Amino acid sequence: MVVPDASMVRVRIAPSPTGFAHLGTASTALYNILFARANGGTFALRIDDTDAERNRPEYELLIYESLRWLGLDWDEGPDKGGPYAPYRQSERLDLYKQHAAQLLADGKAYRCYCTPEELDAERKQAQAEKRPYKYSRRCLTNPPTGRAEFTVRFKVPGGEVKFKDMIRGDMSFDSDLIGDFIIVKSNGYPVYQFASPVDDAVMKISHVIRGEEHLSNTPYHLMLIDALGYERPTAYAHMPLILAKDGTKMSKRKHPETNLALYREQGYLPEALINYLALLGWNPGTSQEIFTFDELVQAFSFDRVQHAGARFDWEKLNWINGEYIRRLDDEELVRRLQPFLPNLDEATIRRAVPALKTRMAKLADAATLLEYLWTNPPAPALEPEALERVRAAIAVLNDVPWEQQAIHDSLMGVVEKSGLGPNKTFMPIRLAVTGKKISPPIDYTLALLPKEVAMSRLQRVAGVTA
Ligand code: GLU
Repeated sequence: MVVPDASMVRVRIAPSPTGFAHLGTASTALYNILFARANGGTFALRIDDTDAERNRPEYELLIYESLRWLGLDWDEGPDKGGPYAPYRQSERLDLYKQHAAQLLADGKAYRCYCTPEELDAERKQAQAEKRPYKYSRRCLTNPPTGRAEFTVRFKVPGGEVKFKDMIRGDMSFDSDLIGDFIIVKSNGYPVYQFASPVDDAVMKISHVIRGEEHLSNTPYHLMLIDALGYERPTAYAHMPLILAKDGTKMSKRKHPETNLALYREQGYLPEALINYLALLGWNPGTSQEIFTFDELVQAFSFDRVQHAGARFDWEKLNWINGEYIRRLDDEELVRRLQPFLPNLDEATIRRAVPALKTRMAKLADAATLLEYLWTNPPAPALEPEALERVRAAIAVLNDVPWEQQAIHDSLMGVVEKSGLGPNKTFMPIRLAVTGKKISPPIDYTLALLPKEVAMSRLQRVAGVTA
């Protein structure tokens, strides 16, 4: 999506390093990058770490690692520097102090000495009178004396706050409903509502693209940018929330799919996850479902982003990932499978790849499908009629050269005789050799094992001694 004045496009994400790297961070980063690349703009990574109690450097590293794994690299950031460094909010505290001092000096903010208990009492009073709570402005008009501890509150000017949302159109909020809010805590730290717009303005962010949960924060940010005399960003975009499949809000605790590390561990290809995330909340208006990154840059536009929450769909992700796996050339797939198959040498993985390709939704499936190669599965107890099929297989396989095509051809004779069709015929053979109902196609399954191992697994089930 190309915008007028594209040369000025500067976007950012501002994740907080308070836990594992989050799926929402990847999704927001992706939309920011697609927009930046389409406009030849700049994408900055700003670390929102003003919550000193919850931030950890190792969580910041997880953000870097997972975004890099996805190929969502940034142009400016704490580790890279840039014209507006530093990019960690904890290193910009002086800047927020200066801005708070300016607002205080201009009479646009004031010190509030109210204690938490007093504020609580105000809130309860409002509740009892059934009116929405707004700070009373006691400290603006009549501050208590002799107290040292204070917060800084922004004096909300009142009136309509209007802005353009690239997804939702013209937005308008009535700021008379917003009480004077705290911008600097009593420990001297700025709150998110203050640090974020100061940075967006100072870093000359042109388009703020973030999750829908921040839509209601935007009027706060705009009032502050106006009060500080900065130019507003050109536009905002609030991306739909990613919801669980049943439409409920995802929680970090209950939904493992919120953790980006999971996708890497399970063998989702980063390019497939990107493709899936792009379609989660946006549609191209055509039936195309598989996109290269460059195609996404070309096709993406905010007017095709849905307003409602986007439901996470494992089935679709697995389908897209399977498509990407099937499109990899064999050597590349061997390379990507190696970390998932530490028990197998490269040559065995190479021999397994054609069979795996058709059956894998994710790379970790390979270990489940091939486990029989490095374990000795227990012999299944089979019905007499199933045993017959195993015996028939032994008979035809005895003299067969041990390679996939020859095995295939000889087993087709067993299928014909049994009259049961391939799936049913092969099931007891599959169970005898792998201990599982699902494996690569049976001819590959057998060919991947040394002949004597495969035959002895069949023989022990059939009660035949070699
Ligand atoms: N730290 C906020 C978050 O991770 C940043 C929101 C914003 O982009 O302004 O949700």
